[in-house]
Amino acid sequence: MRSSTFKWVILSATLLLAALVAFQLFWLKRIYNTEQQLFTTNVIKSVRGLMEDIKLSEDAPRLQQIVERPDNSTFLVKVEAIPHKDSLGYYLSQELQDFDVLTDCRVAVYDHLLGKVIYDLYLPSPGSPFTDESRIDPPIYRRTYRHILLYFPHHDKYLMHEMRYWIIGIIFLLILLLGLVVSLFYLYRQKFLNELQKDFVNNFSHEFKTPLAVMKIASDVLMDPRARNQPDRLQKYSGIIQEQTLHLQRQVDRLLRNAHGKGNVMPLEKQEVDPNTLVRMSLQQLDPLIRDKHADIQIDLDATDSKIMADGEHLQLVIVNLVENALKYSKDPRITISTRKTDGHYSIAVRDNGIGIEKKYLGKLFQKFYRVPTGDVHNVKGFGLGLDFVKKVVQGHHGRVHVQSIPGVGSEFEVLLPII
Ligand code: ADP
Repeated sequence: MRSSTFKWVILSATLLLAALVAFQLFWLKRIYNTEQQLFTTNVIKSVRGLMEDIKLSEDAPRLQQIVERPDNSTFLVKVEAIPHKDSLGYYLSQELQDFDVLTDCRVAVYDHLLGKVIYDLYLPSPGSPFTDESRIDPPIYRRTYRHILLYFPHHDKYLMHEMRYWIIGIIFLLILLLGLVVSLFYLYRQKFLNELQKDFVNNFSHEFKTPLAVMKIASDVLMDPRARNQPDRLQKYSGIIQEQTLHLQRQVDRLLRNAHGKGNVMPLEKQEVDPNTLVRMSLQQLDPLIRDKHADIQIDLDATDSKIMADGEHLQLVIVNLVENALKYSKDPRITISTRKTDGHYSIAVRDNGIGIEKKYLGKLFQKFYRVPTGDVHNVKGFGLGLDFVKKVVQGHHGRVHVQSIPGVGSEFEVLLPII
């Protein structure tokens, strides 16, 4: 499976897992609602039991009408008589226990005529760690009727406790799902790296085997005693060997530079340099390749005698990389290299009439090892390291690189360096 297919599999699996997590959370909410309903029912049943124990209201049979619930943890029970403090405490804790309401309850008896709480009680559930009554004041609801307030201060904790096995199960499942997503992600990365490595080895063998083979043939020709009497042949084949040696040298340099580069840090030695000179030197360096491709090179250099603070050696390699790419990715290369001053920046641009790059790939070009997928159509080899190097050098100069490209028409890479 290619890593692109694998990516889709992982994306679908992740979406599926996300849906599963959403379903779990929805399920948990439903369980909470059910537990809440059970709690309310049990408190109402306890109140009914209390009404049977002590006569508090004529409306006792119609409980729904005399019990008000301002929030999930508070109940106001409308009463006509004020019960004795001890008997209320005794019977209420019995009833709450009988109906499995096993959480502490704060009780307050409010008289509407006096407009205040007559007395209050704290009924700890069996084994409750909370005994310090004064810590939790009962809320006061100024109603126009006499009532007993039942307030359950640890109501939320109690419900969570009741739901503990569900919660543990769901947390366990979530951890499992998370583990699965992370494993899938690492699997994808591993697969991606394996493919990168495979591509790298393929490109590596091509980049080194071809020049070596050409050099071998050229040296065989030179070894032939008959060649010694043919100066033209001697000249031609030693020229080929020199060309291929320079090519190999560039490839080795590129690999070594990347191998030594630590992360994004590029050690630079800045001094005053003339970008126009760097362009000319780069073209000189690429001369064999330019001739080989019969490239038409236009240079449109800044007329003023400009100097910028830069690492000349690295900046020249940046220009070499961009022009080399322009040559590599164009069939009949017509390349324009221009330098000019813009607002506070110095611009070096390389424009070609090559194969161009689709918009969707532009954002990835500067990643290490990245190469635009071309199928088998364009058999241009490379390591995908050139633009990564360009980016690092330009960043080291606090500059930026712009790319504009139209597939089938050409590309322009523009390096902008601050003028200090
Ligand atoms: P490579 O060694 O593959 O050339 P680079 O990092 O220099 O590596 O470039 C990354 C990719 O960007 C190339 O594989 C190529 O697909 C694309 N690319 C770079 N320059 C050009 C250009 N001038 N025209 C078209 N495509 C380009």
